[in-house]
Amino acid sequence: METISRRKTRAVKIGTVKIGGDQAVAIQSMTNTRTTSLAETESQIKELAKAGCELVRLAIPDRESVDAFERLASRSLVPLIADIHFDAELAHMVLDSGAAKIRINPGNIGGPRKLERLAEHAGRLDIPIRIGVNAGSLEKSLLKKYGGATAAALVESALGYLQILESCGFFNTVVSLKASDVYTTIKACRIFALKNDYPLHIGVTEAGPSYSGLIKGSIGVGTLLADGIGDTVRISLTAPPVEEVRAAQHILQALGLRHFFPDIISCPTCGRCSIDLLSLVNEVEELLRDYHFPLKIAVMGCMVNGPGEAREADIGISAGQKHGIVFRHGEVIRTVDLNDLLPSLKEELDLETRYHGNSGQEE
Ligand code: SF4
Repeated sequence: METISRRKTRAVKIGTVKIGGDQAVAIQSMTNTRTTSLAETESQIKELAKAGCELVRLAIPDRESVDAFERLASRSLVPLIADIHFDAELAHMVLDSGAAKIRINPGNIGGPRKLERLAEHAGRLDIPIRIGVNAGSLEKSLLKKYGGATAAALVESALGYLQILESCGFFNTVVSLKASDVYTTIKACRIFALKNDYPLHIGVTEAGPSYSGLIKGSIGVGTLLADGIGDTVRISLTAPPVEEVRAAQHILQALGLRHFFPDIISCPTCGRCSIDLLSLVNEVEELLRDYHFPLKIAVMGCMVNGPGEAREADIGISAGQKHGIVFRHGEVIRTVDLNDLLPSLKEELDLETRYHGNSGQEE
């Protein structure tokens, strides 16, 4: 199997999570509760962490949120990132309140002097800063120079801010270049990646509701990851944040960058299919939620192409003319009643569990 050669980036430590260097691509999401609603926010952080989110970002719109952040950070099992706009003072406060990283948009933080002061403060505490350049808040001069929020304009904006940070001796920076337009995002990250070794947080901003957002995010993030670009990812969805985590896991797994759960290979069905394969696949998907080791499972509609199409699979089930077939690595190992396909798959999975364990951990 071909593997992706990843861009070499400088290592950055976000609390207990290392990114860049040889580290795996980390998954990030953001709470959508009011940060000051402590119980609700804490429960969402826990839910995200349980789902596999490795970095959780919280909005810090006011001073009360800084106080809440401090309490949440002291109890969180995952590093918390503070997201600040417009008010550099809030960024200073949250740097002293347990932030593992701060995310700012330098375009709205109040000018170069304020950015320098933040770099000095974060530098003293060894806390990284993410420069989040966003097409929606690009400098007017760049919009004029490039005739809009183009990829080149986003990159020039980021490089300008990096220069300011570097002039303060601050290199502990992560960068993101985001537009709601997928191709602009891809192009900006590609150009940026050629110019330096700062780690990139990638995503498509304001991607949209679950279905369309997932498609936009998958194309944007997936294309960049396939290019070897991206050190942390967020699949922004107008949906419960935990869905962003599952989406990111699927994208990373589809590209062979990380492994979280068994992979399902299923045929699209055609006129040869003799069972309700759609329902069977849904049941298999449900069943596999309880298994947490890498494995390929094939669910096929007939024996004409079933084993052949699923040769890469570890375990497969397929409808035959009158019976169901269970196979491993494309070889038939037994025939069963059509109604027993799912229980047979479970039996095989239980055998695998004895071999792999089922720790819920990535391999
Ligand atoms: S495996 Fe059989 S049912 Fe499924 S698409 Fe191929 S030929 Fe059709």
